[in-house]
Amino acid sequence: MPHVSEQAKNLTQPVPTHRLSKSRFLAGLQCAKRLYLEIHSPELATPPTPDRRAIMDMGTGVGVVARQYFPHGVLVEETHRQIPSALLRTSELVKDPAVSAIFEGAFVWQGILVRVDILERLDSTRWRLVEVKATSKVKATHLDDLAIQSAVLEGYGIEVAGCFLMHLNTQYSFLGGDLNLDEMFVLENMTEEVQARRPSIQAQLENMWNALREATPPTIAPDNHCYQPYECPFWDHCTKDKPRRWVFHLPGSSKLQTLLMEEGIETIDEIPDHIQLSSIQRRVKDNAEWISPLLRPRLQSVRYPVHHLDFETFMPAIPAFAHTRPYRPIPFQWSNHIEYPDGTVVHHHYLCTDGRDPREEVAMSLLESVGEAGTICVYSEYERFLLFALGDFLPQLKSALSNVVCRLWDLLSVIQQHYYHPDFHGSYSIKTVLPALVPTLAYDDLAIQNGAVAAVMYQKMVFLETDLMERAHIAQALHEYCGRDTWAMVELRRVLMNRVGSSLP
Ligand code: SF4
Repeated sequence: MPHVSEQAKNLTQPVPTHRLSKSRFLAGLQCAKRLYLEIHSPELATPPTPDRRAIMDMGTGVGVVARQYFPHGVLVEETHRQIPSALLRTSELVKDPAVSAIFEGAFVWQGILVRVDILERLDSTRWRLVEVKATSKVKATHLDDLAIQSAVLEGYGIEVAGCFLMHLNTQYSFLGGDLNLDEMFVLENMTEEVQARRPSIQAQLENMWNALREATPPTIAPDNHCYQPYECPFWDHCTKDKPRRWVFHLPGSSKLQTLLMEEGIETIDEIPDHIQLSSIQRRVKDNAEWISPLLRPRLQSVRYPVHHLDFETFMPAIPAFAHTRPYRPIPFQWSNHIEYPDGTVVHHHYLCTDGRDPREEVAMSLLESVGEAGTICVYSEYERFLLFALGDFLPQLKSALSNVVCRLWDLLSVIQQHYYHPDFHGSYSIKTVLPALVPTLAYDDLAIQNGAVAAVMYQKMVFLETDLMERAHIAQALHEYCGRDTWAMVELRRVLMNRVGSSLP
């Protein structure tokens, strides 16, 4: 096994021109151009959105909890800005037989630096490599991740006797009290799968080093590979010159998009008539407003007062409340705009503003708001799913919540089946549909503009933020966002009724 000085020397080995990390290695496997840009032109990347950052933070949080599974492990606390110290500290821990596991150990080999989530000492020479993922199953990219780590560890001189992936068991039901780590995590032995990948690594690295030595990035066209396994941060840069009706924006099968691009078809307008398209693809190609004759009766099928309901939820990887499972959505807020036959609209809303389990209050307050009369307009199947889940959790309210489900009326499905506007560009997301039909109303004036950010801000408000003013600001932003979703439905129904020449009863 190398000594500390050898580790430090590895950092400055002359062979590779650029030091890689395991995440850069994985970026290079996804796309050589992505790796090139990450090293030579990182300023061209789109910064991660708040929801993307929250997902990364959630992964970090799961990693911290996973360490409790190895109670005598020692953390290498030095950050990515303190790599020489991290290497030094890791080397000391490797040499200390009293250390049973190392968390975030830093190792370098052939210019590749890895931080290993967990390295467990099995005996005086052999170790077990454990990679922690906040996912529910093993993915191919996790095996590449383990393969590069095991290559670096063995190059360094560590005997890796096993490669394991530790991920969440989404069926684990938290009963309250201490987490049951044996049930919450699944430890899968991936040693054989990782070994099968190891022979390819040298050639993969050589390709990466060669590409990185070039004066310009590799010529690689953006397509579906830019989203697999992760969305590439250079997408905006790579597609900035694409036409507005680029064929990649055709909704539906990525196979068809790829085929069309391979045939040199650049825009949706150039798609030949003989190509078989789905009905939505045909509408996108026709690029014209379309109104089904059934839109009018569907819009008129509602019963007044019409409620317009939307929930906001968060989905913690580590269960936050008793009788929840990893990633199960917990509703913490709802908004209901109630429209009466004379056109007046009343707004009800609920938001849990502290860290207690909000589900019972969400259900009770909602039942009071929707009463027993009228259609309940929603914009997805999600509300149905949440109401059933609330009913399972609250048996005393199950029957009342089932009655609410029976009154749901899905505006999304009505629009999908009976209406199209060219500004939808193939998307029926309310964020696209609203500005297309109600140009004066959108989301870009709001502090919170999507549900993922709402979930992040709610968790910040109830679990982290101590400043009362800031908590009040967040609560206000959450009210405005959820309220916009339900007001949007009121306006969309009105605009659509105008389109078909209908009016309030
Ligand atoms: S957007 Fe696509 S083509 Fe461009 S660097 Fe990323 S993965 Fe490669």
